[in-house]
Amino acid sequence: MQLIRNFINGEFVDAAEGKTFEKRSPLDNRIIARVSEAGRAEVDAAVQAAHAALKGEWGALSTDQRVDLLYGVANEITRRFDDFVAAEMADTGQPHHVMTSAFIPRGAANFKVFADVVKNVPSESFQMATPDGRGALNYAIRLPKGVIGVIAPWNAPFMLMTWKVGPALACGNTVVVKPSEETPLTTTLLGEVMNKVGIPKGVYNVIHGFGPDSAGEFLTHHPKVDAITFTGETRTGAAIMKAASEGMRDVSFELGGKNAAIVFADADFDAAVDGIFRSAFLNSGQVCLGTERVYVERPIFDKFVQALKAKAEAVKFGRPDDHNANYGPLISAEHKRKVLSYYAKAVEEGATVVTGGGVPQMAGELAEGHWVQPTIWTGLPETAAVVREEIFGPCCHISPFDSDDEVINKANANDYGLATTIWTTNLARAHRVAARVEVGITWINSWFLRDLRTAFGGSKQSGIGREGGVHSLEFYTETRNICVKL
Ligand code: NAD
Repeated sequence: MQLIRNFINGEFVDAAEGKTFEKRSPLDNRIIARVSEAGRAEVDAAVQAAHAALKGEWGALSTDQRVDLLYGVANEITRRFDDFVAAEMADTGQPHHVMTSAFIPRGAANFKVFADVVKNVPSESFQMATPDGRGALNYAIRLPKGVIGVIAPWNAPFMLMTWKVGPALACGNTVVVKPSEETPLTTTLLGEVMNKVGIPKGVYNVIHGFGPDSAGEFLTHHPKVDAITFTGETRTGAAIMKAASEGMRDVSFELGGKNAAIVFADADFDAAVDGIFRSAFLNSGQVCLGTERVYVERPIFDKFVQALKAKAEAVKFGRPDDHNANYGPLISAEHKRKVLSYYAKAVEEGATVVTGGGVPQMAGELAEGHWVQPTIWTGLPETAAVVREEIFGPCCHISPFDSDDEVINKANANDYGLATTIWTTNLARAHRVAARVEVGITWINSWFLRDLRTAFGGSKQSGIGREGGVHSLEFYTETRNICVKL
């Protein structure tokens, strides 16, 4: 049985007490690896290594030298592309095409893009007048913040973890990463890449384990962690925020969502159906930016519901490498239970189940996997739990609307504020609506499309801060002001 180890100070290490936990395949619930669970001692060793690297070789590198190493990381990920694809498929059970077209290439891009950003970012300097006529020069320098604790989720593990590690390292920090207990593989594999390209020891460290009373909590409470960047549930973010308040550490949070899609009657109908099919069901609905609330203008409501139903019913469940399949399982038995509890709740709340609502029949060992049907509901009020709460599964509720004001109010009547998609051929209206929807990112006639140099983050309970391009520098560096009297 494969043992997935922690990666501390450039070495793969077991936990001192030899404690391990199981990694099961989402496809058939088989144990595919054991994972070494970091205790306080390993977390401390990782943080101390990260701290020492800052003061050592890594901290002494010039920006150009650091950036060259990060280009090396991007290139090595690309060279080992198939290994990363295989590891991520084993962790998540998601289809091969999702890995190759999006999740793994984005991992490499996260190193390259932030290396480019850091290399090209201008710095501020001002010449000032002074009463004696000699003047002053006031300028700012950016320094790394220090040791960054990175806590990552399981839904697109490699892409979301590197989205934090790329900019953190580009800015000269060191990191201790705690991947989700559900998806330990690609984060560990990245340790091999770091060693291969010559990233100094201690710059990138990985500790495995759970959240409360385990590696996650030990990391966020460690006094030598200078800032914490976290992607995951809003509730977990609240617990991490408390930990970060010890020692006044900065946080960057990308949290949950309950995203609305707005489809106007003048939309390109097929494009809207395709787009919402992707946003509701890609990655088996386990995408923070995914759509769980769909509002469709009344004249096309019935036709839209039928068209989305047809697409949802055409998915083919199967293994990631089965070329006849295009649809994967949920991540875990626990998550399957949660999603199915919402499927039951929707019925209790009086929903019309347009399609799905249960589990598909799977043959052989796949019958033990965490499969659930893509599910569409109609007929619920806005107050229903499945219309208000994040489910994070392959499901959406569709309701009709009659005016811009009505749909904007409904879209905004939620505690989350992560993303929206608007489907219309009337671009003036699209811009007007986009400006009024309370979210961090709005897509018009598209979804999941973004230049990595733009700001990304959530409004309301969907996050704190913005990352992406130069916005990441605000979090991963500290600006120091220097004023020289001439
Ligand atoms: P989660 O909050 O359960 O876990 C995320 C990570 O936090 C895991 O590594 C977990 O072990 C760790 N953790 C849990 N409790 C902790 C604690 N008390 N202290 C320290 N670490 C702790 O989230 P998840 O189930 O892995 O991911 C799904 C959630 O992530 C959804 O809510 C989804 O919307 C959100 N998400 C948001 C974005 C975004 O960009 N906004 C992106 C992806 C996922």
